[in-house]
Amino acid sequence: MKLSVKIFLSMSISSLISCILVLGIILNKNYETNIQKENERTVESFSSIANNIEESLEKYQNLKSQDIINTYNSYYKKDDFQFVYVNNNNIDYSSEENLINNISDEILDVKNNVFLSKFIQDEDNFYLYVATAFKNDVSKKIIGIKDITYLYETQSEIKFYGIVIISIATLFITIISFAISKNITKQLEYIANGAKRISKGDYNVNFKETSDEFGKLAIAFNKMVQDINIRTNELISLVESKQTFIDNLSHEMNTPLTTIQGYAEYIERANISPEKRIKYLEYIQQESKRIKDIYKKLLLLSYKKKTDLEIINQDFNLILEEIKQQISRKLNEKNITLVINNKLNSLECDKTLVQIAINNLIINASNISKPNSQIIVNCYENTTNKIIEVIDFGIGISKENINKILEPFYRVDKARSREYGGAGLGLSICKNIMEMHNGKIKIESEIGKGSKFILIF
Ligand code: ADP
Repeated sequence: MKLSVKIFLSMSISSLISCILVLGIILNKNYETNIQKENERTVESFSSIANNIEESLEKYQNLKSQDIINTYNSYYKKDDFQFVYVNNNNIDYSSEENLINNISDEILDVKNNVFLSKFIQDEDNFYLYVATAFKNDVSKKIIGIKDITYLYETQSEIKFYGIVIISIATLFITIISFAISKNITKQLEYIANGAKRISKGDYNVNFKETSDEFGKLAIAFNKMVQDINIRTNELISLVESKQTFIDNLSHEMNTPLTTIQGYAEYIERANISPEKRIKYLEYIQQESKRIKDIYKKLLLLSYKKKTDLEIINQDFNLILEEIKQQISRKLNEKNITLVINNKLNSLECDKTLVQIAINNLIINASNISKPNSQIIVNCYENTTNKIIEVIDFGIGISKENINKILEPFYRVDKARSREYGGAGLGLSICKNIMEMHNGKIKIESEIGKGSKFILIF
């Protein structure tokens, strides 16, 4: 069964049942109250009429009792009330035979000071019988018969209107529940169609965020679509950057290999002097060294697993001392002064990798620094991190390039970079090393003034 039909049926049936129940209870209560009130009213007026009849019968003994009762009956006819006089179980007066037949023994046995009342149905009519015995003579009784058919008629009338009202209400409820069930299923269908589009790879779906439960579902779906979009874009950019990496790598390898091949063929074929042969062999050696260098750096770049690291508390002064020795020759070539301001005693790190990172930064700085200039290394600790800064006063880096130089094989000035043997891998290796230490690398720079590379642990 369709959901819309289920909702429609359950709403209509349950509201119909509740309407019938409510109406039934109200009608019943109303009827009971009316009957009770009628009974009280009848007994009350009967008690005084019975007294009057008793007094009249005693007073006018010369008159026929039937005549006296008839007088009362004619007077109270307007109230649908008539009376029967019983003398020693002889019913002295009868108006209608069937009404007399309804007088039971229980009614005839009524005592004085007691007002007995009985509801009796006679064919389509309803009567209230009230009876009492005379105060001075218990063998004489007076019975009042009140026609209360109007009460039942009123009740039937109310019942009829109730049924009409229920029918109209049910019709309304049916229309409303049909509209509600259609609306609910329409929203579900809308979401189902959206989900189908998503499953087919169409992520341009935006569900309407209403304030009901469907709105919550829509928010969840929108969030899901947004997340899928983000992940997809991440995957696309990952695939793209891998492709760029492979393209750059093949280019970087191809250049020295072509050079090597060219010189080797030349040496083999041409009739050249021993001096030139030595010079070309040196070129071949240089390019081979370059390939080896790229290979070593690529190994470092693919060094990703933290388990391969040896992160322990290291003497930081010793780390700096060793770096100074490793790069002194390079700095001396341009007479560059390395100023170290160190306030760190120790650092939790993999010593070899951190030395590679700091070395890379100082060598980069020296590559772009003018002869006789300075490179400053500041090492200190703030409230949350340990910081190493490498500051140079060289050419600086443009904002556009700052975002790119951490990518593998990216070089700002290719020709210049190749001059000192750079393959554009140094900074991406630094970034990788910092990520392995749960740290990061930041760059601040101004064209023409210099740069600051900050390692944050
Ligand atoms: P490379 O090995 O070619 O130096 P890097 O990844 O270390 O590769 O650096 C990428 C590029 O960033 C370099 O080609 C260089 O142009 C630029 N760069 C690096 N350090 C600095 C610096 N301190 N000042 C200006 N440019 C720099």
